[in-house]
Amino acid sequence: MTMRTTRKRSWAEPFKIKVVEPIKMTTREHRQRCIEEAGFNTFLLRSEDVYIDLLTDSGTSAMSDNQWAGMMLGDEAYAGSKNFYNLYDAVHKHYGYEYLVPTHQGRGAEHILSQIMIRSGDVVPGNMYFTTTKLHQELAGGRFLDVIVDEAHDPENESPFKGNIDLGKLQRCIDEYGAERIPYVSFEGNVNMAGGQPVSMQNFRDVYALCQKHGIRVMLDATRMVENAYFIKTREPGYEDKTIPEILREICSYSDGATMSAKKDHLVNIGGWLALNDRELFEQAQNMVVVYEGLHTYGGMAGRDMEAVARGIVEAVQYDHIRARIGQVEYLGQRLIDESIPIVRPVGSHAVFLDAKRFLPHLPQDEFPAQTLAAELYVESGVRAMERGIVSAGRNPETGDHNRPALELVRLTLPRRVYTQAHMDVTAETILEVWDRRAQITGLEMVFEPKYLRFFQARFVRK
Ligand SMILES: *Cc1c(COP(=O)(O)O)cnc(C)c1O
Repeated sequence: MTMRTTRKRSWAEPFKIKVVEPIKMTTREHRQRCIEEAGFNTFLLRSEDVYIDLLTDSGTSAMSDNQWAGMMLGDEAYAGSKNFYNLYDAVHKHYGYEYLVPTHQGRGAEHILSQIMIRSGDVVPGNMYFTTTKLHQELAGGRFLDVIVDEAHDPENESPFKGNIDLGKLQRCIDEYGAERIPYVSFEGNVNMAGGQPVSMQNFRDVYALCQKHGIRVMLDATRMVENAYFIKTREPGYEDKTIPEILREICSYSDGATMSAKKDHLVNIGGWLALNDRELFEQAQNMVVVYEGLHTYGGMAGRDMEAVARGIVEAVQYDHIRARIGQVEYLGQRLIDESIPIVRPVGSHAVFLDAKRFLPHLPQDEFPAQTLAAELYVESGVRAMERGIVSAGRNPETGDHNRPALELVRLTLPRRVYTQAHMDVTAETILEVWDRRAQITGLEMVFEPKYLRFFQARFVRK
């Protein structure tokens, strides 16, 4: 008998690189000037001044040769483009919904869904807010109510499904407001603001059962549902032998519809959709789409864009793709864990989140620790991250005070299929450099504050 040792087998990219885009190397003096001119807001930097861009995974993915080939097959007819039917087929096959309304991106779908379903005074329970989702619910006259499990607010809690809805909280919400004031439960997969934390299949099933009992609909935010499906496969007993498409279909079977930002899971630069099972709601959505987005067979997308989404869906659900995508995020996360850098655990699907409260414990939340840390990372080496903390949380519409979220995070979001392992190493080294000089870092003061989604355009100066 020969002795066997178990060697670690690495994930690797299931693609090779065919086209490259050069990136500019800059000096620290240049970056210092750039961040001051940008009001210490990484959203206001010019991308040409950025070395490794981890601002967002939204619309920043690399498309495949097959998607680019599909772009040449755009049918740009105003009505009835064949690319719309290809998109419908892909959504129907992999998500299972009956009706599809294309939109220019995710928030277009959120706008339509909120306007057709929410009436003034309604309450919309959800598993932690997302910025645009919540704002559209509020603009439609509703109020968002957070019913995520408590573990989601604790960056050190290692539970595998920190995106779950707390059924007790949801029941209390129904008891307090009554089912007739709850138009739907807004249920996000792989909860972005919690650090990319997944929902278990058991929870999708239980929430749907509870809602059905009360006649409340369940609407998914399916933006990162493929990534959520991967975590169910790798973490939830009974799902290890199911395929990603099987898991995705089962998730969607516990819902009445979904909004989608195709700019994430679907590997495209622009696009989105709203899918529904109810014919009457679909007709209302079709009335809205022609007012705000475009005709019901393009909804703000060009024919070629719809074709890229249709092909992107097929690529997104391939196991080798999703394993390498999440494997790269885990690689970066593990490097930081090995160096004892405070990050949200477990590592999520689309990003590594630095815990700015523990990174810069000397800064009070009113001095914007996460905003400060994102600016410091940029100055250090041109890595661009973004704030997910008090600035993103906005103000309480009733009191006018800052919302003060428990999580004060810096998000390092990985575009899909764009960067290499060496870029991940440079990113980790940058964070370590800033970590070593963290005691000298001072906070920020907000000097310009937009009314809506302030994190995009707010400006700051050094305290
Ligand atoms: C990006 C995102 C949205 C909004 O989609 P856009 O395409 O940016 O308009 C909604 N929900 C979640 C979870 C997202 O990540």
